[in-house]
Amino acid sequence: THFGFRDVPLADKQKLVGQVFSSVAQRYDLMNDLMSLGIHRVWKRYFVATSGVKQGDRVLDLAGGTGDIAALLHPRVGERGAIVLGDINDAMLRVGRDRLIDRGIVRGLEFVQMNAEALPFPDASFDLVTIAFGLRNVTDKPRALAEMRRVLRPGGRALVLEFSEVQPKWFRPIYDFHSFRVLPRLGRLFAGDADSYQYLAESIRKHPPQEQLKGMMSEAGFERCDYRNLSGGIVAIHSGHAV
Ligand code: SAM
Repeated sequence: THFGFRDVPLADKQKLVGQVFSSVAQRYDLMNDLMSLGIHRVWKRYFVATSGVKQGDRVLDLAGGTGDIAALLHPRVGERGAIVLGDINDAMLRVGRDRLIDRGIVRGLEFVQMNAEALPFPDASFDLVTIAFGLRNVTDKPRALAEMRRVLRPGGRALVLEFSEVQPKWFRPIYDFHSFRVLPRLGRLFAGDADSYQYLAESIRKHPPQEQLKGMMSEAGFERCDYRNLSGGIVAIHSGHAV
Protein backbone atom coordinates (compact mmCIF):
# COMPACT_ATOMS: atom_id res chain seq x y z
CA THR A 1 0.00 0.00 0.00
CA HIS A 2 3.03 2.26 0.16
CA PHE A 3 4.25 4.09 -2.86
CA GLY A 4 7.93 4.58 -2.14
CA PHE A 5 8.53 5.83 1.39
CA ARG A 6 11.87 7.49 1.74
CA ASP A 7 13.25 7.69 5.23
CA VAL A 8 14.63 11.08 6.10
CA PRO A 9 17.23 11.07 8.89
CA LEU A 10 15.87 13.00 11.87
CA ALA A 11 18.80 15.43 11.87
CA ASP A 12 17.93 16.53 8.35
CA LYS A 13 14.25 16.77 9.02
CA GLN A 14 14.11 20.27 10.42
CA LYS A 15 16.14 21.59 7.49
CA LEU A 16 13.92 19.78 5.02
CA VAL A 17 10.75 21.10 6.64
CA GLY A 18 12.23 24.60 6.42
CA GLN A 19 12.96 24.16 2.71
CA VAL A 20 9.56 22.74 2.00
CA PHE A 21 7.71 25.65 3.56
CA SER A 22 10.05 28.31 2.20
CA SER A 23 9.55 26.93 -1.28
CA VAL A 24 5.80 26.67 -0.99
CA ALA A 25 4.92 29.72 1.15
CA GLN A 26 3.65 31.71 -1.81
CA ARG A 27 1.67 28.90 -3.38
CA TYR A 28 0.37 27.62 -0.13
CA ASP A 29 -3.34 27.99 -0.79
CA LEU A 30 -3.09 26.21 -4.10
CA MET A 31 -1.23 23.39 -2.40
CA ASN A 32 -3.82 23.03 0.33
CA ASP A 33 -6.61 23.06 -2.21
CA LEU A 34 -4.90 20.38 -4.27
CA MET A 35 -4.14 18.24 -1.27
CA SER A 36 -7.62 18.31 0.15
CA LEU A 37 -9.69 19.05 -2.95
CA GLY A 38 -10.61 22.33 -1.27
CA ILE A 39 -12.07 20.73 1.83
CA HIS A 40 -9.36 22.15 4.14
CA ARG A 41 -11.36 25.39 4.22
CA VAL A 42 -14.36 23.53 5.63
CA TRP A 43 -12.22 21.68 8.18
CA LYS A 44 -10.66 24.92 9.38
CA ARG A 45 -14.01 26.66 9.72
CA TYR A 46 -15.36 23.70 11.68
CA PHE A 47 -12.21 23.60 13.84
CA VAL A 48 -12.63 27.22 14.92
CA ALA A 49 -16.43 27.12 15.13
CA THR A 50 -16.29 24.21 17.60
CA SER A 51 -13.25 25.52 19.49
CA GLY A 52 -15.27 27.13 22.25
CA VAL A 53 -13.21 30.32 21.85
CA LYS A 54 -14.96 33.38 23.23
CA GLN A 55 -14.76 37.15 23.37
CA GLY A 56 -11.74 38.34 25.30
CA ASP A 57 -9.76 35.10 24.95
CA ARG A 58 -6.00 35.13 24.51
CA VAL A 59 -5.13 32.59 21.84
CA LEU A 60 -1.84 31.22 20.58
CA ASP A 61 -2.12 29.83 17.05
CA LEU A 62 0.98 27.72 16.56
CA ALA A 63 2.38 26.94 13.12
CA GLY A 64 -0.04 29.68 12.13
CA GLY A 65 1.61 30.00 8.73
CA THR A 66 -0.71 31.65 6.30
CA GLY A 67 -3.03 33.05 8.94
CA ASP A 68 -6.10 31.01 7.99
CA ILE A 69 -6.87 30.02 11.57
CA ALA A 70 -6.09 33.49 12.97
CA ALA A 71 -8.50 35.05 10.46
CA LEU A 72 -11.27 32.73 11.62
CA LEU A 73 -10.46 33.27 15.31
CA HIS A 74 -10.25 37.04 15.05
CA PRO A 75 -13.95 37.99 15.12
CA ARG A 76 -14.56 35.44 17.87
CA VAL A 77 -12.03 36.83 20.35
CA GLY A 78 -13.28 40.34 19.60
CA GLU A 79 -11.75 43.65 20.60
CA ARG A 80 -10.84 42.54 24.09
CA GLY A 81 -9.12 39.40 22.88
CA ALA A 82 -5.65 38.80 21.50
CA ILE A 83 -4.15 36.35 19.05
CA VAL A 84 -0.49 35.47 18.81
CA LEU A 85 0.38 33.87 15.51
CA GLY A 86 3.53 31.81 15.88
CA ASP A 87 5.48 30.06 13.17
CA ILE A 88 9.05 28.84 12.85
CA ASN A 89 9.35 30.01 9.25
CA ASP A 90 9.76 33.70 8.48
CA ALA A 91 8.51 33.36 4.89
CA MET A 92 5.26 31.75 6.08
CA LEU A 93 4.85 34.41 8.78
CA ARG A 94 5.35 37.20 6.28
CA VAL A 95 2.82 35.75 3.84
CA GLY A 96 0.34 35.33 6.69
CA ARG A 97 0.86 38.82 8.02
CA ASP A 98 0.51 40.47 4.60
CA ARG A 99 -2.59 38.50 3.85
CA LEU A 100 -4.27 39.37 7.15
CA ILE A 101 -3.37 43.06 6.80
CA ASP A 102 -4.81 43.05 3.27
CA ARG A 103 -8.05 41.73 4.70
CA GLY A 104 -8.09 44.42 7.37
CA ILE A 105 -7.48 41.94 10.16
CA VAL A 106 -5.00 43.82 12.30
CA ARG A 107 -6.20 44.69 15.78
CA GLY A 108 -5.09 42.41 18.61
CA LEU A 109 -2.77 40.35 16.41
CA GLU A 110 0.89 39.67 17.03
CA PHE A 111 3.32 37.75 14.83
CA VAL A 112 6.15 35.93 16.52
CA GLN A 113 8.72 33.65 14.95
CA MET A 114 9.03 30.69 17.28
CA ASN A 115 9.67 26.99 17.51
CA ALA A 116 6.70 25.09 18.94
CA GLU A 117 9.20 23.02 20.93
CA ALA A 118 10.37 26.02 22.98
CA LEU A 119 7.65 28.62 23.39
CA PRO A 120 8.84 32.11 24.35
CA PHE A 121 6.05 32.71 26.90
CA PRO A 122 5.70 32.31 30.64
CA ASP A 123 3.47 29.59 32.09
CA ALA A 124 -0.30 30.10 31.97
CA SER A 125 -0.27 32.82 29.28
CA PHE A 126 -3.17 31.68 27.10
CA ASP A 127 -6.80 30.54 27.23
CA LEU A 128 -6.47 28.50 24.06
CA VAL A 129 -3.63 27.09 21.98
CA THR A 130 -4.41 25.93 18.45
CA ILE A 131 -2.19 24.16 15.96
CA ALA A 132 -3.63 23.34 12.55
CA PHE A 133 -1.73 21.15 10.13
CA GLY A 134 1.43 21.95 12.04
CA LEU A 135 2.11 19.27 14.62
CA ARG A 136 3.11 16.64 12.09
CA ASN A 137 5.97 18.89 10.96
CA VAL A 138 7.33 19.34 14.46
CA THR A 139 10.35 17.15 15.16
CA ASP A 140 9.89 16.65 18.91
CA LYS A 141 6.13 16.33 19.29
CA PRO A 142 6.10 15.37 23.00
CA ARG A 143 8.08 18.50 23.75
CA ALA A 144 5.77 20.69 21.70
CA LEU A 145 2.71 19.22 23.43
CA ALA A 146 4.30 19.78 26.85
CA GLU A 147 5.03 23.38 25.87
CA MET A 148 1.44 23.89 24.72
CA ARG A 149 0.30 22.55 28.07
CA ARG A 150 2.70 24.79 29.98
CA VAL A 151 1.58 28.08 28.41
CA LEU A 152 -2.12 27.34 29.02
CA ARG A 153 -3.83 28.75 32.09
CA PRO A 154 -5.71 26.28 34.29
CA GLY A 155 -8.99 25.65 32.50
CA GLY A 156 -7.43 26.42 29.12
CA ARG A 157 -7.54 24.09 26.15
CA ALA A 158 -5.32 22.88 23.37
CA LEU A 159 -6.77 21.95 19.99
CA VAL A 160 -4.90 20.09 17.30
CA LEU A 161 -6.20 19.88 13.75
CA GLU A 162 -4.14 17.41 11.80
CA PHE A 163 -4.22 14.76 9.13
CA SER A 164 -4.87 11.42 10.73
CA GLU A 165 -5.59 7.82 9.86
CA VAL A 166 -8.37 7.20 7.37
CA GLN A 167 -10.89 4.91 9.05
CA PRO A 168 -12.89 3.08 6.34
CA LYS A 169 -10.64 0.32 5.00
CA TRP A 170 -12.12 0.52 1.49
CA PHE A 171 -11.16 4.17 1.24
CA ARG A 172 -7.47 3.66 2.05
CA PRO A 173 -6.26 2.54 -1.40
CA ILE A 174 -8.07 5.47 -3.02
CA TYR A 175 -6.56 7.85 -0.50
CA ASP A 176 -3.07 6.42 -1.03
CA PHE A 177 -3.46 6.70 -4.76
CA HIS A 178 -4.47 10.36 -4.44
CA SER A 179 -1.57 11.05 -2.07
CA PHE A 180 1.27 9.30 -3.83
CA ARG A 181 0.23 9.24 -7.47
CA VAL A 182 -2.05 12.20 -8.08
CA LEU A 183 -0.64 14.79 -5.67
CA PRO A 184 3.02 14.78 -6.73
CA ARG A 185 1.90 15.06 -10.36
CA LEU A 186 -0.41 17.96 -9.57
CA GLY A 187 2.44 19.49 -7.59
CA ARG A 188 4.77 19.28 -10.55
CA LEU A 189 2.11 20.56 -12.93
CA PHE A 190 0.87 23.55 -10.93
CA ALA A 191 3.79 24.43 -8.71
CA GLY A 192 6.75 22.91 -10.53
CA ASP A 193 7.51 21.06 -7.35
CA ALA A 194 6.69 17.37 -6.89
CA ASP A 195 9.08 16.76 -3.97
CA SER A 196 7.31 19.04 -1.51
CA TYR A 197 4.03 17.29 -2.18
CA GLN A 198 5.66 13.91 -1.89
CA TYR A 199 7.11 14.96 1.46
CA LEU A 200 3.72 16.11 2.69
CA ALA A 201 2.03 12.84 1.75
CA GLU A 202 4.75 10.92 3.56
CA SER A 203 4.62 13.13 6.64
CA ILE A 204 0.90 12.41 6.93
CA ARG A 205 1.54 8.65 6.97
CA LYS A 206 4.21 9.00 9.64
CA HIS A 207 2.10 11.15 11.95
CA PRO A 208 0.74 9.28 14.99
CA PRO A 209 -2.83 8.07 14.38
CA GLN A 210 -5.81 9.11 16.51
CA GLU A 211 -5.41 6.94 19.61
CA GLN A 212 -1.65 7.35 19.74
CA LEU A 213 -1.80 11.14 19.57
CA LYS A 214 -4.48 11.13 22.24
CA GLY A 215 -2.11 9.13 24.44
CA MET A 216 0.72 11.54 23.74
CA MET A 217 -1.48 14.43 24.87
CA SER A 218 -2.23 12.65 28.13
CA GLU A 219 1.50 12.03 28.59
CA ALA A 220 2.11 15.73 28.07
CA GLY A 221 -0.12 16.48 31.04
CA PHE A 222 -3.45 17.23 29.39
CA GLU A 223 -6.66 16.08 31.03
CA ARG A 224 -9.84 14.76 29.37
CA CYS A 225 -8.09 14.20 26.07
CA ASP A 226 -10.33 13.35 23.20
CA TYR A 227 -10.59 13.49 19.43
CA ARG A 228 -13.14 13.76 16.69
CA ASN A 229 -12.69 12.45 13.16
CA LEU A 230 -13.63 14.61 10.21
CA SER A 231 -14.16 13.23 6.72
CA GLY A 232 -13.65 9.63 7.82
CA GLY A 233 -10.46 10.40 9.69
CA ILE A 234 -8.61 12.12 6.85
CA VAL A 235 -8.21 14.72 9.56
CA ALA A 236 -8.95 14.68 13.27
CA ILE A 237 -9.38 17.32 15.94
CA HIS A 238 -7.67 16.41 19.21
CA SER A 239 -8.45 18.33 22.36
CA GLY A 240 -6.94 18.42 25.81
CA HIS A 241 -7.66 20.46 28.92
CA ALA A 242 -5.17 22.09 31.23
CA VAL A 243 -6.09 21.89 34.90
N1 SAM B 1 -1.81 26.55 10.25
C1 SAM B 1 -1.67 26.92 8.85
C2 SAM B 1 -2.79 26.33 8.05
O1 SAM B 1 -3.52 25.51 8.59
O2 SAM B 1 -2.98 26.73 6.90
C3 SAM B 1 -0.31 26.49 8.27
C4 SAM B 1 -0.03 25.01 8.25
S1 SAM B 1 1.45 24.59 7.41
C5 SAM B 1 1.04 23.01 6.71
C6 SAM B 1 2.58 24.10 8.62
C7 SAM B 1 3.31 25.24 9.27
O3 SAM B 1 4.05 24.73 10.38
C8 SAM B 1 4.33 25.94 8.39
O4 SAM B 1 4.04 27.31 8.31
C9 SAM B 1 5.68 25.69 9.08
O5 SAM B 1 6.58 26.75 8.96
C10 SAM B 1 5.22 25.49 10.51
N2 SAM B 1 6.14 24.75 11.38
C11 SAM B 1 6.83 23.62 11.08
N3 SAM B 1 7.56 23.22 12.13
C12 SAM B 1 7.32 24.13 13.14
C13 SAM B 1 7.80 24.26 14.48
N4 SAM B 1 8.66 23.39 15.00
N5 SAM B 1 7.36 25.30 15.21
C14 SAM B 1 6.48 26.20 14.68
N6 SAM B 1 6.00 26.12 13.43
C15 SAM B 1 6.42 25.10 12.65
